[in-house]
Amino acid sequence: MGICELSLREMGSAVARRKVSPAELVEAHLSRIRVCDPTLRAYVTVNEAECERLARDRGRQSGGPPGVAAPLNCIPIAVKDNICTKGLRTTCGSRILRNYVPPYDATAVSRLRDRGCLLIGKTNLDEFGMGSSTENSFFGPTRNPWDLERVPGGSSGGSAAAVAAGMAAAALGTDTGGSVRQPAALCGLVGYKPTYGVVSRRGLVAFASSLDQIGVIARTVEDTAAVLEAVSGWDAWDSTSARRGQVRARQTGEVGKSGVLRVGVPWGFFSEGLDPDVSDVTRAVVSKLEKERWAFEEIDLPHAEYSIAAYYLVADAEASSNLARYDGVRYGEREGGTDDLWEMYVRTRTAGLGTEVKRRVMLGTYALSAGYYEAYYLRAQKARTLIKRDYEEVLRRVDLVLMPTSPTAAFRLGEKLHDPLAMYLSDVFTVGVNLAGLPAVSLPSGYSRSGLPIGLQLIGRAFEDQTLLEAARLFEQVVALEARTPAGLKGLLESGRGGA
Ligand code: GLN
Repeated sequence: MGICELSLREMGSAVARRKVSPAELVEAHLSRIRVCDPTLRAYVTVNEAECERLARDRGRQSGGPPGVAAPLNCIPIAVKDNICTKGLRTTCGSRILRNYVPPYDATAVSRLRDRGCLLIGKTNLDEFGMGSSTENSFFGPTRNPWDLERVPGGSSGGSAAAVAAGMAAAALGTDTGGSVRQPAALCGLVGYKPTYGVVSRRGLVAFASSLDQIGVIARTVEDTAAVLEAVSGWDAWDSTSARRGQVRARQTGEVGKSGVLRVGVPWGFFSEGLDPDVSDVTRAVVSKLEKERWAFEEIDLPHAEYSIAAYYLVADAEASSNLARYDGVRYGEREGGTDDLWEMYVRTRTAGLGTEVKRRVMLGTYALSAGYYEAYYLRAQKARTLIKRDYEEVLRRVDLVLMPTSPTAAFRLGEKLHDPLAMYLSDVFTVGVNLAGLPAVSLPSGYSRSGLPIGLQLIGRAFEDQTLLEAARLFEQVVALEARTPAGLKGLLESGRGGA
């Protein structure tokens, strides 16, 4: 196994024990990127020069920068390209921001830098986070390292593909309606969406502010926890950040020790129309966990069937307002050639924004407009409250909820691109969690008959992220999935004559 396949924890300790120099670690990742990324296209921007320089400097210092310890010191981390990085362009996968260079770091990013992480690059995404396949990017689609003809999921598909292909040890993504969990599931990784308010949104380019959360994509639960510990916690610069949101990487071992874990499964909600491979994996995992004192019971989420409709109304309404700032005056590119202000707005937005973004701005504006507000937006908000209450009620009786992350394994490039409703329906299991503000984690759970990874998600109580992480760790141990090398990646490495 190459250096790029090590867990973050293993990389961190190899650097701390001087088995690997920071420069070697960075070089291994950059050479992997050179071999694989021309095909995978997980990155919009590779931060090569800065990483090489920092790695050289760190190598000269004994033990890294003062106060910085393993496991994150010198670890190459990728960041989704809708999270601001000072001096490094942040495009949101959009033409309108293709040359935008932020003057500041997002809080999550500055916290990673403080821990000694190296920002290896900015990853591809559906424009402004709108999509489930990473095909809605101005920079073109990202491919899934497990099968190069398939999507990596979205919208954080670049982050997931980068980690799955060993082009980063872990990555930040964002989850407005599933965009961390779903690509993690489709790429065989852990994807963690924190309770709303646990990770600061300062510097995260807004899509739907009441739903957006920065999350983590990594290979193991332990790696996920290490990154989450670094980025979580209260931030004076984000009025929606929570004071009780700090997550600790160290496990107390309390969960599951004191008795059985009670887990609710909404079989009635997800069974119909579920891909047989996903259904088989769900049943197999449940029966494994049952043997380890996880007590399963069937639960009902009576309003879950409204979650897609409620989510797409709330998210699009907020997006239509948030994206009004791209007007050619304040941010991003301006389409000139006219003296008329209105005409300049129209030209700028016509040229700068993609089809899916325009569709959502129109839907959201419509839902908020006089005469329709009560019929759509207000009703969606009411449905949101009911969906949240369903979860609150269920989570009084059980400790966790378990269900598939996605109704299918990775689908083919182009398969849903021209059918927006089919694309929206792939979010059916993830969006409810965002509407309710809860923490959830997608975990590698098995493989389809054709060898594609399948993920299941665990959902916890608000602000019990620590408990959820510990349960995730137990899940990982019990399920004990055999590690496989993604088939597409294998082919790329063989034909590229050995990236590290
Ligand atoms: N797929 C969902 C959407 O298109 C979720 C996106 C996200 O979480 N950023 O809105």
